[in-house]
Amino acid sequence: MPAPSRHNIMSTISQLLAASSLSLSIPALAKAPGALKTEVATAIDGEAKLVQEMVDSVFSFAEPGFQEVKTSAYLTAILERNGFNVTRGVAGIPTAWTATWGTGGPLVALGSDIDGLLGLSQTPGSPVIKPMVAGAPGHGEGHNSGMPLIIAAAIATKNVMEKYGIKGRLMLWPGVAEELLATKAFYVREGLFKDVDASIFTHVNAGFGTGWGDLGLTGMVSVQYDFHGKTAHGAAPWNGRSALDGVEWMNAAWNFRREHLPLTQRSHHVITNGGGQPNIVPGEASVWYYFRDKDFASVRTLYETGNEISEAAAKATGTTVTRRLLGYAAPNFGNKPLAEAAYANIEMVGMPQWSEADQPSRTRYNRLTASRPSPWTARSPPCRPLKHAAVRALVGPTISATSCGQYPPSPLAIHPTFPIRSDIM
Ligand SMILES: [Zn+2]
Repeated sequence: MPAPSRHNIMSTISQLLAASSLSLSIPALAKAPGALKTEVATAIDGEAKLVQEMVDSVFSFAEPGFQEVKTSAYLTAILERNGFNVTRGVAGIPTAWTATWGTGGPLVALGSDIDGLLGLSQTPGSPVIKPMVAGAPGHGEGHNSGMPLIIAAAIATKNVMEKYGIKGRLMLWPGVAEELLATKAFYVREGLFKDVDASIFTHVNAGFGTGWGDLGLTGMVSVQYDFHGKTAHGAAPWNGRSALDGVEWMNAAWNFRREHLPLTQRSHHVITNGGGQPNIVPGEASVWYYFRDKDFASVRTLYETGNEISEAAAKATGTTVTRRLLGYAAPNFGNKPLAEAAYANIEMVGMPQWSEADQPSRTRYNRLTASRPSPWTARSPPCRPLKHAAVRALVGPTISATSCGQYPPSPLAIHPTFPIRSDIM
């Protein structure tokens, strides 16, 4: 994943991966007969129009975390039409679901995120920021593309497994509210992955690849600090204690501490409640922090440092503070046999082939990025039909995936068929 991109900020963390216990022989999967892989690849290519429709439809729904209502209804209906059993509301989360197929044999879980982001409404196909509805949510992380690709791959794989009597089970699951780190830990706690033999996760990116071990991504704790003071009229502020002062002191102290934190950390905050109007001393104020680092021990240290600073800020301002843990995730740790199997498939399908028709958009993007300092001027234009090389990476049970563009650190990222990374859980 490219260095400090928008992508890293959220999804990296989020790819908390559900546990996978590998009892099946992955090298054996990688060695599945080439003819079968070719058959699956051809079938996926044949669904290019469906993939385009799914990617564009989910983009148009533009639903943020926990509000993926139309998205989930739409995607699960397609899966049901194609013979998958859908269970809705898993782990007590209304927009979460699983779609399973098959009996007996190894269980392979296929996941990808589906939530949008607040304030990222974007006109399809525009490589510059151009909201369709100013301030409305949108897909700025490419979460409109992963699940459609997995669905196309799963349907093709299922059909081939049925045709040749190959034993095995597939379970598709969505990363609901991934940007909030809000559901995957609950899935694990609910036992969603307890019978899973291999778990494969796909996320859009500007490169086509896979990896194993420490993937260089970050874990995270999401926590809200609520400061409690005493409200008072601004004309007599000595009667009050400002909870907002507590928040501001905490933020100032954290920013001073930042220089002395490990270079690997990243931390961010937003004030979610800063009071009502200037002439009222705010009795309540809140600030929401993300603490991120490369290993979980460091994430914990950041979290504990944040807690300490919040308490010091409360003391300094005559307020009190409570905190609410909103989510957390460990850094990714990729499975080596799965990554090697995926890489073998990547080699088989090869890199995307750029056509002459692709060149104008690449040139236009190059021009735009040369004149703008922002590393990501385009936000997830929806995809046009996916071409073979990228989609075919989904061949077989060892999956890598691909799709459309988003926050591009490279010109490839607005290419309609630019590939994405597959994360192996
Ligand atoms: Zn993401």
